[in-house]
Amino acid sequence: MESFAERVLEWYAEHARDLPWRRPGTDAWAVLVSEVMLQQTPVARVVPAYGAWLERWPTPAALAADSPGEAVRMWGKLGYPRRALRLHECATAIAARHRGAVPSTVDELLALPGVGAYTARAVASFAYGQRHPVVDTNVRRFVTRAVLGLGDAAPPSTTRDHATMEMLLPAEPARAARFGVAAMEVGAVVCTARAPRCRACPVRETCAWRGAGSPRYDGPARPVQRFAGTDRQVRGLLMDVLRGTADPVAAAALDAVWADDVQRARALDGLVADGLVDPLPDGRFALPARRPTLPTG
Ligand code: SF4
Repeated sequence: MESFAERVLEWYAEHARDLPWRRPGTDAWAVLVSEVMLQQTPVARVVPAYGAWLERWPTPAALAADSPGEAVRMWGKLGYPRRALRLHECATAIAARHRGAVPSTVDELLALPGVGAYTARAVASFAYGQRHPVVDTNVRRFVTRAVLGLGDAAPPSTTRDHATMEMLLPAEPARAARFGVAAMEVGAVVCTARAPRCRACPVRETCAWRGAGSPRYDGPARPVQRFAGTDRQVRGLLMDVLRGTADPVAAAALDAVWADDVQRARALDGLVADGLVDPLPDGRFALPARRPTLPTG
């Protein structure tokens, strides 16, 4: 009987979406950029932003030579713009510590600013063909159902998630790396959160959750994220104003975007605290200027 991994790999060979960061010749910097962008933004919105970003900054050194404010401006409306700052810090560290080349080991990647357990393994695996368990939300849900027989994944646990994925990984590194992407794709387009398409699934015959009669999720209700009226919405509106001009903006221009003074001030304070906005001595506000160079080593 074909192994779990073989079935997933065969399915992937036939059904994988053609995404730019999966094309042959994609280098490690491009993989890193795609992974950071994809963490909290849907694929359809990432594709154009990814292309534009790499056209402007094809290497970490190119981004490091520009200001963090330009990274935030270029991030546009991808959301969670702290990721742009972290990517800029990361590029600066790569330029300073690794002569501009994205490092290849998980430990070196983990030592970069803003690179966590998932991103480090994703880059080592997808860019450098190494054998590592790479577990995002989609993989966790797919594996939880197919192997553990539960309707939905428990909260993330790096140790448990890696141990479960490790059991499924092919031994050969390049195959393991491809399996990581393939499992992610099954989770993203077949074993979806709300309506898994079991009839199209490559592991439907052995899926533990189906075998158990597809029991309903009976854990605590998941919070529904709202956006309208939140500080996140106000932050986004303030950032739109700052991104829309090359010059610093007067406080009055920011005041105009949201009527509630208390909430607007709180959102602006948060942006300043996050390093996304610089308050200038003359009372105006700007996207962040260049920071001092990070120490090497
Ligand atoms: S058979 Fe259905 S529930 Fe099981 S892994 Fe496939 S899509 Fe998910």
